[in-house]
Amino acid sequence: VIEVRAPGRVNLIGEHTDYNDGFVMPAAIGYYTHVRARRRDDRIVTVRSDRFPEPAAFQLDRLPRTRRGDWADYARGILIELAAGGIALRGADVLVTATLPLGAGLSSSASFEIALALAMLAAAEASMESTEIARLAQCAEHEHVGIRSGIMDQFAVLRSHAHHAMLLDTRTLEVELVPVPERAAIVVANTMVKHALAASEYNARRAECEAGVRILQQTLPRIRALRDVTLEMLEQHEADLPAVVYRRCRHVVTEDARAGEAANALRAGNLAALGSLLNASHESLKNDYEVSCPELDRMVEIARTIEGVYGARMTGGGFGGCTVNLVAADRAAAFARRLARAYRTQTGTMPEIYDGTPVDGAQVLHA
Ligand code: ADP
Ligand code: MG
Repeated sequence: VIEVRAPGRVNLIGEHTDYNDGFVMPAAIGYYTHVRARRRDDRIVTVRSDRFPEPAAFQLDRLPRTRRGDWADYARGILIELAAGGIALRGADVLVTATLPLGAGLSSSASFEIALALAMLAAAEASMESTEIARLAQCAEHEHVGIRSGIMDQFAVLRSHAHHAMLLDTRTLEVELVPVPERAAIVVANTMVKHALAASEYNARRAECEAGVRILQQTLPRIRALRDVTLEMLEQHEADLPAVVYRRCRHVVTEDARAGEAANALRAGNLAALGSLLNASHESLKNDYEVSCPELDRMVEIARTIEGVYGARMTGGGFGGCTVNLVAADRAAAFARRLARAYRTQTGTMPEIYDGTPVDGAQVLHA
């Protein structure tokens, strides 16, 4: 039996920058997708997940191109892309279980994709470079699920290290692991809401960023992405851009700068500076990028009143999901209790709180 586990991830800073060739700083967290696969002698792959009643079955020689419109599309996408990458896939019975919450912005999708890809590679006794696996999983999500997500999630799930955050340059895919000091705790809090807007607004923001780049390129022909634009350049060209596009660009450009500064703060062990950057990131996502929501704003507001917190912000795509909080380690347990209690009192909903201590990336536990 092949056994793989892949973690989820929380993004500390660098939100909505990964499709603008920018910087992100995620860390893997100790909540997992587990995949167990047993080889079969025929050409069939069955996949069942403890989260969904309907299993999926695929004939490897006739992988369907049409979407089922549910979780099985992720599995289908991974199989198609592995086969397209030249992997001689083998039949298998696959069982998926998870301790990671689905759809909460902690990247259960990438975690599932990577866990399944590693299991199918192990079943085929094949190996593949991790950058290629990440790209392939991203492609599966683009082509076969229809979500145009960036490359951050797959990278974080595959390449993270315990006790480190991962500064990733999404243009060059260069990774720097930055140690997270013992005296810092990362606490993740789930608002328990997910507004239906999330997917359509995500694609709308991407389009607005692309529109901004196209307009700016008329006077700045050398820029390829918002990554290449500084705040000064953007301010000089404010008049060329529709007001909304200008604000979207301003978020991306300042967030990219904040991600760089955050890495500096973390390298220096300056938790107060890092916390301020998290706070500024939230304001920018709320006001300029407009991807927050009342529940996220409430969760962040409460967090900032609690002793021991350095900073708090929404994390992930937005419109619900989780906040990430940087807290003094010796205050983390009390912080989590007080945050949960106050959020429940104010909203009537009991939030889930997760330990965000950085863990290692995906591992094949048994092949
Ligand atoms: P997130 O990545 O933030 O958790 P997404 O909406 O991107 O949220 O991905 C969630 C989807 O990924 C699920 O609805 C399901 O289709 C798929 N998925 C993730 N984990 C699993 C799992 N353990 N079993 C089956 N499908 C999964
Ligand atoms: Mg996802």
